Amino acid sequence: MLLAHDTEASLQAAVDLVNSAVEPDTLTGPAEVDEWYSKHRYTGRRDRDDAELAALRELRPVLRELLTAERDRAAGLVNAMLADARAIPQLVRHDEMDWHLHAVPADEPLVGRVLVETAMAMADLVRGDEMSRLAICADATCDGVVLDLTRNRSRRFCSTTCANRNAVAAYRARRKVTT
Ligand SMILES: [Zn+2]
Ligand SMILES: [Zn+2]
Repeated sequence: MLLAHDTEASLQAAVDLVNSAVEPDTLTGPAEVDEWYSKHRYTGRRDRDDAELAALRELRPVLRELLTAERDRAAGLVNAMLADARAIPQLVRHDEMDWHLHAVPADEPLVGRVLVETAMAMADLVRGDEMSRLAICADATCDGVVLDLTRNRSRRFCSTTCANRNAVAAYRARRKVTT
């Protein structure tokens, strides 16, 4: 199943947010929020205050639970999140972005919009039975979340750092066997 562009974007943003909690924590100040926000081309309200940062940090384990849930549990979580937020899906077109879905107004706090957009994206994954696109990093020491949007489902590591570390380890292991 082909995922909608906004579904992919929302999932990528959620995974990055969740993985920022993997030690060393990389969401510790407003500048890091700015970086994440612009990288994922978020729009709408930004408060740039401590409350917003704290709310985003507290959202990370909530999103982690959703992204790593098995399918039936994810369905329940999505329903609860959308109901709690009184989400109303609306097609919108703004900036350079063609028609896509928003389900909370752009002037709602950022944390609420991120929660609902992630829930909407997960609704697509549950519906399309595409939960296998989400996994935990194959690195034995990392619990980062991996989002695999590749056609051939080849992505196993959460970051290039983890991929490189394991490539080096695999290379050393091979050398040990042969010499
Ligand atoms: Zn938008
Ligand atoms: Zn990793």
